Amino acid sequence: MVANKKIYSLRASLCCKCPSCGKGVIYSGLLDVRDKCKCCGLNLKDHDSGDGPAFFAMFIVGIIITFAAGFVEIFFEVSMVFHMFLWTPLIIILSIWLLRVIKSYLIYTEYHHNILGTNKKNDL
Ligand SMILES: [Zn+2]
Repeated sequence: MVANKKIYSLRASLCCKCPSCGKGVIYSGLLDVRDKCKCCGLNLKDHDSGDGPAFFAMFIVGIIITFAAGFVEIFFEVSMVFHMFLWTPLIIILSIWLLRVIKSYLIYTEYHHNILGTNKKNDL
């Protein structure tokens, strides 16, 4: 039961789905959270993840890119221009993807731990 819940939370977070129904997409833009879920009407605008997603994304992307750039520099000895053209797009793409996933996971966690105190007992 707990394993299923964890798998469901990971799947919902990776796909950026609604924490309640798992069908509606929670984003209206790249990183803008919808006011309400289109499928079940869950109020999403009150779930504020704050600076958490930015911190975790910056931390994870920083570690991955630092080790990858170090590995490429040590074993391939490429120019700095190559580093710039390789890592800049990767940093941007990975950061945006991780921001979406982590923000979705934090919203999912807030919802399922009833942080706002608005969930119905049946939803838990
Ligand atoms: Zn929903």
